[in-house]
Amino acid sequence: MSPQELSDISEKWKIIKDLFREYYRKRPLKLPQDLELREIAIQVFDSPTYIRHKAFQTPDQLYKFIYLKIPRHIYYSSAKYSNPAAPSMDEKGWLGSDLVFDIDADHIPGCRQVHIYVCKDCKYSSSYKISKCPNCNSNNIEIIDLSLDDLCIDLAKNQVGLLIHALDVELGFSNFSIYFSGHRGFHIHVPLEEELAKLSSDERREIVDYLKGVGLSRDLILFSSKSRTRKATPALPRISNGGWRTRVSRIMLSKDLKKELEMYIKNMDILPSYKDMKRYLKDLNEALEQGKIYLDEKVTIDTSRLIRIPGSLNGKAGLIVIEVNDIESFRFNQELSPFNEIMMRVRYETSIPQVKILGMSIGPRHRGDYEVLPGAIAIWLALKDICTVLGITR
Ligand SMILES: [Zn+2]
Repeated sequence: MSPQELSDISEKWKIIKDLFREYYRKRPLKLPQDLELREIAIQVFDSPTYIRHKAFQTPDQLYKFIYLKIPRHIYYSSAKYSNPAAPSMDEKGWLGSDLVFDIDADHIPGCRQVHIYVCKDCKYSSSYKISKCPNCNSNNIEIIDLSLDDLCIDLAKNQVGLLIHALDVELGFSNFSIYFSGHRGFHIHVPLEEELAKLSSDERREIVDYLKGVGLSRDLILFSSKSRTRKATPALPRISNGGWRTRVSRIMLSKDLKKELEMYIKNMDILPSYKDMKRYLKDLNEALEQGKIYLDEKVTIDTSRLIRIPGSLNGKAGLIVIEVNDIESFRFNQELSPFNEIMMRVRYETSIPQVKILGMSIGPRHRGDYEVLPGAIAIWLALKDICTVLGITR
């Protein structure tokens, strides 16, 4: 190992910080019009604590702060405040908050993440769950999310599709933006003004419960409150019914249905046969499950939530928090990194199994191995403490 490489260990983050600085020099952030009303918070590379309660009158002032600190993560408040720099919530003067939704792939049933278990003392690693290090007996074991299956992103995309349709058609929020989170999920921002912005935490929870289908049953979908008697005939949901009935109808239409049933759901003047009705009722439970949206409710009900600034870099993976115009065509690959044009020389600090990261298959590798990797992959691994970046090959 060269002396240069030895000194690089003590300056573990230097190369990555320089790259982050270079990225922010391009002024990539999509800032809100009312920047001066938002709290700004950051986390830096050398300390796990947040720097909070910052406020800036202009983008220039914010960028000056960014060049000075080089944030690993940077957030603004979903809330607007009369005095966003005040140190306590009471003094900030809450003026209202946007509505924010977080869909994280690893919370969706069926998503398989690739974890490794790493001993923080000796860097021993295992693909299998360990609570004690077999190498040094330490209990100091950390779980690292190494990667996730492409299927996870597809599941998350499907959830975003359900959510934006529900926001637009079922709830009437037509003004929203979708962002990739920069790691493994999506954020949906709905800017709110005036009275709507003042929705309380409890009221936001009602919205979440509705979207998640909390307390929803098949009977609630099939019968109106007046007709919920033993002998009532179920009214099979149709696309024009509104609310959850519309959501269920859309899901039913994605199934392989008989023409008559399809026409019924699409509001055509037709009555399905008894057999078709039975088929619909049989599939309805499944459709209700498929309609539930897996949201991180903590994010939505918190009226002082800090959210990643669009255009910033996610310091857990090094990818851009990028606006997604068409969720269907979103691809989880190295192009989400601003560093995909460079190659980097890395040294592994932890052994890893064979794994697919951002579409590229790597490993298995052992602790102490050297490799030249595309920038997007090298930074993904470095930010997860798997490797140290030693140099750039442009
Ligand atoms: Zn150990």
